[in-house]
Amino acid sequence: MIQKYYDNDVDPSAIAKKTIAVIGYGSQGRGQALNLKDSGLNVIIGLRPGKSWDLAKSEGFQVYEVAEAAKKADVIQILIPDENQAAVYRSFIGPNLTKGKVLMFSHGFNIHYGQIVPPEDVDVVMVAPKGPGHMVRRTYTEGMGVPALIAIHQDVSGNARKVALAYAQGIGATRAVVLETNFREETETDLFGEQAVLCGGITSLIRAGFETLVEAGYAPEMAYLEVLHETKLIVDLIYEGGFTKMRSAISNTAQYGDLTRGPRVIGQESYMAMQEVLEEIQNGTFAKEWILENMVNRPTFTALTRADEEHLIEEVGSEIRAMMPQFKNKR
Ligand code: NDP
Ligand code: MG
Ligand code: MG
Repeated sequence: MIQKYYDNDVDPSAIAKKTIAVIGYGSQGRGQALNLKDSGLNVIIGLRPGKSWDLAKSEGFQVYEVAEAAKKADVIQILIPDENQAAVYRSFIGPNLTKGKVLMFSHGFNIHYGQIVPPEDVDVVMVAPKGPGHMVRRTYTEGMGVPALIAIHQDVSGNARKVALAYAQGIGATRAVVLETNFREETETDLFGEQAVLCGGITSLIRAGFETLVEAGYAPEMAYLEVLHETKLIVDLIYEGGFTKMRSAISNTAQYGDLTRGPRVIGQESYMAMQEVLEEIQNGTFAKEWILENMVNRPTFTALTRADEEHLIEEVGSEIRAMMPQFKNKR
């Protein structure tokens, strides 16, 4: 069974006296840094001058250039976008990553695919919250936490696990649960989840359902409410109590349609595509493609993003949401 940790398993002294540099102040950087600070830990922020710098300062942090922050810190948590990490590491972090320090990540991409190769005399660990940064922050302020994964890539000090757990406690994760994995497993399952189910799978499913209804002559507004708006209501039920709770809340008609038609929509072809997508993650094809895409300034990323931004479902969606009071503060 996978190893699980809670608050009682943590030795807070493992990082109580250390300086933690959070590099980046975006989704994860801001959420993790604010939680660590409110947990009484000594946090500084590493950035380049700009918007994030000003925000971090205005929220009470000492902010330094990345190299300076890495130099001052005992624990360096890299929370800038995955595709920028290798270059920033090479120029600013690596040169200041002296013996005995701890290098930390929230995703294993750059270690697993060999884009960052740390020296042998530092600990290399991962603390990866299983939720977006604003949820990491919000659940913490509500007295809870989002679950997190920890993983140990290098443990020269013999303390790497203790440090990872104490950090996980600092961001509130041990209030929920912390599971131990390894860099390979976290990287491959995270990429697969976001590609096949969470981001890629769900947007493709919703888009296909919307297009099918609209092409058949139904009103786009009806299609939007049916296949996009209601998705959240169903997912909330699944989140709270699994398929069983969701099915106890829907009509028997809906349940019968779900059980008999769902597997036709996501059938053999989808399973085969999922296997292919997983293989491309496992054999490095996806990583290579994404690294090269960034080297040529992301033409595919940009074109595909724009095409979806201009899709009818987005246009109809923003009109409908503008009419619904519950979205007033979310636009
Ligand atoms: P973001 O895209 O939110 O990071 C943006 C931040 O990085 C900004 O503060 C930006 O500063 C800074 N930044 C970008 N480039 C540089 C640079 N060259 N030098 C200095 N600062 C830079 O990242 P995420 O929070 O989404 O992701 C961070 C890590 O967390 C990744 O490894 C990701 O896989 C992982 N993760 C993310 C999750 C999420 O929900 N987003 C969930 C779990 C893990 P500026 O304003 O100057 O551009
Ligand atoms: Mg991810
Ligand atoms: Mg219905």
